[in-house]
Amino acid sequence: MTQAVKLFDITDEDRPHKGGDEFRSVQVFKCWVCGALTNKVFLGGGPSWGMRQVCPNAAACWHHELEVKLVWLAKPHPASSRQELEKELEQFRGNHKKDVKDDLRGRPDFSQKHPVTTTSTFDKNEKGDYCEHSNLQL
Ligand SMILES: [Zn+2]
Ligand SMILES: [Zn+2]
Repeated sequence: MTQAVKLFDITDEDRPHKGGDEFRSVQVFKCWVCGALTNKVFLGGGPSWGMRQVCPNAAACWHHELEVKLVWLAKPHPASSRQELEKELEQFRGNHKKDVKDDLRGRPDFSQKHPVTTTSTFDKNEKGDYCEHSNLQL
């Protein structure tokens, strides 16, 4: 059974516009960190905030660590240590393959793929603290 969900084209005038609105889009958004797909779109509280698409895994610490590794790898490295880093990254990706969750509803158009706007979010833990990654400058 497929659930009937209304998908909005993000370029259409009739899409939701109100701050705080949330809708599902025709377009598909892909996370450059973990590769997860989503078609959930949030509208920011202020008029200038625009549309945001958040990776469904953005609040997880393994995702924070993966982003740190990718940002680090993108910097210049000598060939030998680059190889090491790439190997480590592949291993890390492999370990967390099962944690990569997509969040798609309806039947979006996979030919219209864009990057998500937000790859990291931070939730407070039961003690009311953010994780160690929340003050990293990515
Ligand atoms: Zn992701
Ligand atoms: Zn974290």
